[in-house]
Amino acid sequence: MSFEWETLMILDKAETTIFEAMSEMPVVDAHEHLLPEPQRVARRVDFFILFSTYSKADLCGAGMAPDVYDRLRNDQDMPVDQKWKAFRPFYPFVRHGAYARPARIWLKDVLGYDDLTEDNYAEVSARLQEWNAPGLYDRILRRMCHIRTALVACETYQEYDFDLLKPLWRVINFISDKSILGFVRQSATGKPGKGLAGYLDWMEEDFHQYLQRGRVGIKAICFPYEPPDTAKADAIFDSLYSRGDEPKLSPAERYTLASVIYDRAFRLAQAHGLTVAVHSGVWGDFRESQPAHLIPMATGYPGVSFDLFHLGIPYVREAVMIGKMFPNVSLNLCWTTVLSPELTVRMLDECIDMVPMNRIIAFGADYNLPVEKVYGHLKMAKQVVARVLAKRVGRGEMDLSEARRIAGMWFCDNAAGIYRL
Ligand SMILES: [Zn+2]
Repeated sequence: MSFEWETLMILDKAETTIFEAMSEMPVVDAHEHLLPEPQRVARRVDFFILFSTYSKADLCGAGMAPDVYDRLRNDQDMPVDQKWKAFRPFYPFVRHGAYARPARIWLKDVLGYDDLTEDNYAEVSARLQEWNAPGLYDRILRRMCHIRTALVACETYQEYDFDLLKPLWRVINFISDKSILGFVRQSATGKPGKGLAGYLDWMEEDFHQYLQRGRVGIKAICFPYEPPDTAKADAIFDSLYSRGDEPKLSPAERYTLASVIYDRAFRLAQAHGLTVAVHSGVWGDFRESQPAHLIPMATGYPGVSFDLFHLGIPYVREAVMIGKMFPNVSLNLCWTTVLSPELTVRMLDECIDMVPMNRIIAFGADYNLPVEKVYGHLKMAKQVVARVLAKRVGRGEMDLSEARRIAGMWFCDNAAGIYRL
């Protein structure tokens, strides 16, 4: 049987009408990690680029060794037939997962294949490499997806097309052990200024460099936050200088330092009118990043606007309640659709009951390498929104024009307002 998306996600008449009304709609992609395009097109690509990034969790969960995954993703000289042999045993286990769907949508809609097979992996690889040329981002993001702006939590502020991609400054980098302990080693020699105050000044310098590149937002993450205690944090930081060549931080010490680092970042956010995007849930030990940790931040800094990411999956109801109860918190459903469209349908439906319509952002694709997958992720997000709104239309709770208006808010206007684009 020929593969059709409708077999996976059947849209009824109202859903189809709403979905089609969104086809040319301008979109703000409210979260990405995309590389600068020159870096991306300088890489040689093959079929596996469609399974890089999040598919790692599913492929390794299905039994692929992590070092094999890393080689498939990063070794540009590995022959494509060897890559296929390493990939083939695991694909049947992950091909129905939501992480794989944007890859399959690209195969179907753009390359015209029902699926990736023994017969077409070489051809698919060649076609992906043909696409992989300057203008790739313009072609996919602007022309295919109608994306006006994409917010990028990037590691570099160089070589970006700043008309299209707006960078977020990553305070998240400055709460890592690597950053803190690296600074301690460097400043032990007397330069830059020692201690936590020196660290915060060094961080603020980096922030001001970022500000010159545009002013959109700050990327943070939930952690077991405590109200900032500068004296306690100073004592911990100073003690790092006398812990030998390889100082280590305990989790509790890291949280104390991170709370003071966040305090400086939130003051900068308030002074410069920047929204703070806050990752929650999903990765690794997701208990550490549960969305409830945002509550003391949101109440401690009522003048700062926080955009809570990923619905805190799996803590989705906590996240929705935070969006309802704290007026300086919006809900950004970036990444959620490719974690599970079914879960996202259910939670958006509950969001309509509980959260003001102007506090919800429906889409951010959240990719670094595979810009191709933005297209499929956006299509899935539109299908999700069509299903949710059509249900309300079907019950007579709103008409089609109201549904279209809400879709426009969720995909574009709300992100533009929340990030002051
Ligand atoms: Zn992300």
